[in-house]
Amino acid sequence: MAALCENSVNLGAKQASFTATDCAMTKTETPAGTTPAIVPFSRVRLEELLKKRFFYAPAFSIYGGVAGLYDYGPPGCALQANILGLWRQHFVLEEQMLEVDTTVMTPHDVLKTSGHVDRFTDYMVKDLKTGDFFRADHLVEAALERRLEEPKISADERAECESILAQIDGYGQEDLQRLLHRFQPRSDAGNELSPVVKFNLMFGTDIGPTGQLKGFLRPETAQGQFTNFKRLLDYNNDRMPFASAQIGRAFRNEISPRSGLLRVREFTMAEIEHYVHPLRKQHSRFHEVAHISLNFLSASVQQDGSAQLVNLPIGAAVATGLVNNETLGYYLARVALFLWKIGIDPQRVRFRQHMKNEMAHYASDCWDAEIKSSYGWIECVGCADRACFDLSNHSAVTGERLVARERLATPVTETIRKLEINKKDIGITYKALAKDICCALESCAEETEQKRIVESMSVVLKNGTVVNLAPGMVKLVESTVTRHVDEYIPSVIEPSFGIGRIMYSLLEHCFWGRPDDEQRSVLSFPACVAPTKALLAPLSPHDSFRPFLAQVVNCLRSSPTPLAFTVDESSTSIGKRYARNDEIGVPFAITVDFQTVQDRTVTLRERDSCQQCRVPIDSIANVLADLIEGRAAWNEVVVRFGLFSAQITDKSD
Ligand code: AMP
Repeated sequence: MAALCENSVNLGAKQASFTATDCAMTKTETPAGTTPAIVPFSRVRLEELLKKRFFYAPAFSIYGGVAGLYDYGPPGCALQANILGLWRQHFVLEEQMLEVDTTVMTPHDVLKTSGHVDRFTDYMVKDLKTGDFFRADHLVEAALERRLEEPKISADERAECESILAQIDGYGQEDLQRLLHRFQPRSDAGNELSPVVKFNLMFGTDIGPTGQLKGFLRPETAQGQFTNFKRLLDYNNDRMPFASAQIGRAFRNEISPRSGLLRVREFTMAEIEHYVHPLRKQHSRFHEVAHISLNFLSASVQQDGSAQLVNLPIGAAVATGLVNNETLGYYLARVALFLWKIGIDPQRVRFRQHMKNEMAHYASDCWDAEIKSSYGWIECVGCADRACFDLSNHSAVTGERLVARERLATPVTETIRKLEINKKDIGITYKALAKDICCALESCAEETEQKRIVESMSVVLKNGTVVNLAPGMVKLVESTVTRHVDEYIPSVIEPSFGIGRIMYSLLEHCFWGRPDDEQRSVLSFPACVAPTKALLAPLSPHDSFRPFLAQVVNCLRSSPTPLAFTVDESSTSIGKRYARNDEIGVPFAITVDFQTVQDRTVTLRERDSCQQCRVPIDSIANVLADLIEGRAAWNEVVVRFGLFSAQITDKSD
């Protein structure tokens, strides 16, 4: 196995540029910006480590496992909890969002209204011999990628393949069928394939013992937020704009789960629904982020068959209309800041705009935050302006007015037209049908439809029946009203995070190896997300260390900042204990040694540089808390306490 890294100093996981192939190259930087080293990233080694240290593992593996289901072990669990903690701090607390926790089990009608029952589908094909299913777009992608690797491919064909790949997310059933026909991919087993069919990705279930109430495990957390809109607006004292947020599990019956945590059937999402006036999408904090530059891949560039990024401040992207509005732009910048804060390499983040045929018909703009890993560019956060689609549909079906109201500074006088219905005549003539007729007339708010009814004297009922009306049963009347209140259905801007995908990308971006020993892998998580913040270890099992160890434990336990630490009193050499903890990304190690007994100081070691300082026991908890919460950098700790170089180094084994 090639060495993973030749550079021992990597403070704060500042890993920079790369070219991703199946095995990406990662360039690490020294803290002083000295000689960067190009090192090969090995996914195999990372995966071995993740399995060995139980970050996560296939669920139910003692029963043979189920594709797309994973269990998280202690470090994976703590890493996810820390990412979610920072997410809550960065979004919910900082933006005063209203957090909810709604049910996973969702009735059929809710997801019918949202469009998921009819349209939450992927296209698949079946291996005609084995019966295995594949995603049609994945087969096309794989076939094109194989073709691109062929040495004899012509320039024209290369350009065509690249153009198709750039637009692959936008293709529908017929396009995919045409491409499968043209490129003739086979299944994994080399067999022929069935025609392309649609497959709904939701897990269906029956709610209750009668089996009559059909439901689904939710495929996203958004609908539970929309259906509570009225309560949330009320809780917010009717103030607009505002945002709700939810962290929770979502379920998608993926056709071919693959790529570890990147495509699974059950995963944690963190979603924000920001409600805003449909014609006023400015954001009051936009000026705070306007200078932040992001990598953009616009829809037009993709439609030209290219993947060329442009780096622009978000202020310019909104001003030029590349990004539709300030609120969407604000969230793109805040999403980027969050990803960078938790340790995602900024150079491996891009924002890809949905192409016209890829974007939902109701959406006005949609950008995916994609993160590059050894699997290529992967959508990790979807950011969509969903307009008023969800709230207006739930309103129309339930009759619940999911609207916001704002007092107008100047009252507006306007002429309105409405249908005047002669219920008595309709009742006498149509008897049992009268209720449905009146209901259809009353719910008709569309001006052109109102005109059509009056001109043709006919109305279409909910079940599609057309009923002719006699003269005088309905007429269009005009009146003048003065409005003091603006009533509107809010637009919704939705950033939707897949936490597993972000976590896996982070693991790749933080993974490297010691130059002097390729077997020694390191996960350079920023201290704020590291699953465990500190290792506490006596230099050896010497009795005189015990009371000091107990004192340090007490200091760490009583720290106001929670300090997740582990104690390793084993007789394994200190170097090996450091190495074991580097592997799971523990940023600091505290060692009690012979000098501690004399002067009540301990050694504090930093994971990436292996540098050490001596810190008094009484200060250790505060120093650690400052490092973890970002109030102090390691360099500052070194300046304050001085570098310590003793025989106790991580080479002591
Ligand atoms: P979507 O609603 O499809 O835009 O998905 C929102 C986010 O959920 C995506 O940006 C992904 O991060 C995540 N996601 C979607 N599908 C999966 C999956 N099968 N496995 C893991 N994460 C997923």
